[in-house]
Parts: sequence; structure tokens; C-alpha cells
Amino acid sequence: MSTFCGKLEEKELAFIGIDSFESHLLSCSTFMLSHFHKDHMRGIQDQSFQVAFNNIKNNMILYASPLTITYLKRNKTINLREDKLISLEIGFPNLLKVHSENFEYICVTLLPAGHCPGSVMFLIEAGPYRILYTGDFRVQLQDFKQFKPLLINKDGNCSPKNISALYLDTTFASKKYYEFPMRKESSANLIKVVGEWLDQDPDNKICLWMPGYVGIEYAIVEVAKHFKCSIHVHKQKYDELYSSIADLDNYVTPILTNNRIHACSKTECDTDSINCMELNKNVKCVQLNALAFTKDVIDIGGHVIVKNNITRVCYSSHSSCKELREIVRFLNPEKLYFNVIVNQTVKEIYDILTENNWTPRTQKKDVKENTKVILKLSNKYQYNHNVQNTEEVFNKRPRLESPERE
Ligand SMILES: [Zn+2]
Ligand SMILES: [Zn+2]
Ligand SMILES: [Zn+2]
Repeated sequence: MSTFCGKLEEKELAFIGIDSFESHLLSCSTFMLSHFHKDHMRGIQDQSFQVAFNNIKNNMILYASPLTITYLKRNKTINLREDKLISLEIGFPNLLKVHSENFEYICVTLLPAGHCPGSVMFLIEAGPYRILYTGDFRVQLQDFKQFKPLLINKDGNCSPKNISALYLDTTFASKKYYEFPMRKESSANLIKVVGEWLDQDPDNKICLWMPGYVGIEYAIVEVAKHFKCSIHVHKQKYDELYSSIADLDNYVTPILTNNRIHACSKTECDTDSINCMELNKNVKCVQLNALAFTKDVIDIGGHVIVKNNITRVCYSSHSSCKELREIVRFLNPEKLYFNVIVNQTVKEIYDILTENNWTPRTQKKDVKENTKVILKLSNKYQYNHNVQNTEEVFNKRPRLESPERE
């Protein structure tokens, strides 16, 4: 859950608001949204924000990936002027005119974040600053090494450009979450669980529980491809989200027939009156989850655990602790800020990410602090529970970003 306050620490960039739309950001003119998750959209439905944003005199613009812009336009509770919602293509530098005393233009490049459909990281270059804001992300080190906008070619070797500040998704910056399977492996585990259950009895069905409104679509596609079937989803969610993703549309359906695999759990779409998954002896509930898979749990039970009639398969849309450590070490930023600070101190997160000799099996040694890293704590986080969604059909169909290139 993001605890990022929305403003960068760099005072000259105070005109930028990222992943928050609350009252303290109303003086901003350049807004960026990394992905369509509630904890990154606080305040976007507030009357005060919408009035200010829609006033053409205010020069406020919101930038996001094409898919996220589509979600914003479809959502009827988010009433923002469409000509101020600007989609930027992923992977290319964009020179954006800004309203600031310090800069006339800034350069913004979107990089795939591999977290959920439409999710991106922002590389912001302005004057002396080169800032990487990850939003929520799951990207492997080998993928970072392919992101050309981050790299400089020195004597035939690519090395990272100097990053003045890295704003990092530290959801799993904890020794408890040292390592997760890659999503391909998680999908294979899921397919095995589903296959074994469906083979046992022709009446058996699978109910896939969603960890969030959007996020496990990559796994849904893998399951649908493997079993050569369409997965049943709620009509509301289909209309709002899935029908806009061309690569997903073929694998899910809002039309209930004799589907054996469902991703239509009531909990995450309770406005829908259909209840095709009444729990009975033929229904197996499977939950894709990372939070439950601490290192201790994995050591004992592996990547699939059964508890209280729910089968959990380890699947993470955020980088593991090991992955974070590799990325911080590779990018070696001048400054490092943490976007998720929950039940941990900043010092603890810092130690885990920068401790050179640490592995989960060795004793903690004296921390040698990297003098280049400076720590600042994000503002206290407040959660807005008021996000609701409504139905509408659109024609724009951006592509689904593959979360991993393997
Ligand atoms: Zn988040
Ligand atoms: Zn997220
Ligand atoms: Zn269903």
C-alpha cells in the first residue's frame, strides 16, 4: 500500500504531483498516475480536485500510459476533462511543456512496471535531476539492463546513467519476503492446482480469488491458454477494464455458460447480482497471493499452501526483497526514497536494501552505510475508501504489457 505523499522531495519540481490528487497537491500543474490502483489515486474523485483540474485556466494536465488513460475515461466517478488526460507511449522520451518558474520543459519517459496492466515507472529528467519513480513494480534486474533510457554506453559496455533520486516500491523490502517465484513459475503452479482439481470430477469448478481490482491478468491469460477455455468474469469489470485490453479480451468472458474456471468472486465486485460460484463440495477456491508467503511459510510449505479450504498459490506483483536489493545496487542512486513504509522504520528498510553482505541465511553484520544514500521519510499516508466504479463501453483497446521478458 503506497505511503508516498504525491510530491517529490526536489523543491524545484514541486509543480509535479505523482500518484496522489489530494488537497495539498492542488497547486501542482503536471500530474502523473503510474497505474489504476486505489492507493495511487487518493483524491482523484474529490470535488475540489475535479473542479480545479477541469478549469482550463489552471493548466493542469494528467499524464499516464494509454491503458490507464482509458480506465480513467471509462470510470464515471472520475469526471476529468478528456483533453487534459494525456497518454504517453511507453519507452520513448517525451518533452513536456510545464508551468514552472524553474523549467520550461521536462523530459518524461514511461518504463513498463510489470505490476498490472497499464502500470509504468516514470523517469523524469529536468535540469540537474534524473529521477526514477517506480510506482508499484515487479521488474527483474535483467530487464533494467535492457531499459535504454536508463543506460549509457561506455566503451561498448552499458551502465546505468546517474540517477539523482530513486523513489522505490518497498512493499516487500523485508527479510520475510526475500524471494518469490517468477510469475511464469507461479502460473505453472496455478495451472497444476487447477488441472488436478478439474480432472478429479467433471462437475468440479475453480474459483480464482482476485488480490485487487486489477493485477493478476497475466496469470488469467496463462490459465485460459493452457485449458483452452474462457474464464468467467463479472460483466461490470469486463466492461470497465478487460474489454479494453486486446490481449485479454480473448481469454475472459462476461457471458456465463458452462465455464469451469471463474474469476468472478463476489468480494471484489459485489454490485453484480450473479452468484455463479455458490461454494459447495465441487468448488475449489484458489487465491493468488504474496503476502501470506513469508520465507518461513515457503520453507515449510513451498509455493502452494492450503488453509481453511482455500488453496493459496504464491504470486507477486511487487519485486521481492532480493530483486529490490539487486536493482538498488545496480542503479546506485544518489538519493533513495521509499514509497511504502508500513510496520517498518526507514532505517530497517534502508539496512535491508543496502547491506552488502546480507543473505537470509547469514547473521546480520555491521551495516556499512553507503554515503551516497540520503534518507527522507514520506508524509503520513491516508487512505481514501471512496473509490467506486461504473459501467461504460469504449472502443479504445491498448495492448497488455507483458510483465516479464524471459
Ligand atoms: Zn500500491
Ligand atoms: Zn498497485
Ligand atoms: Zn463466474
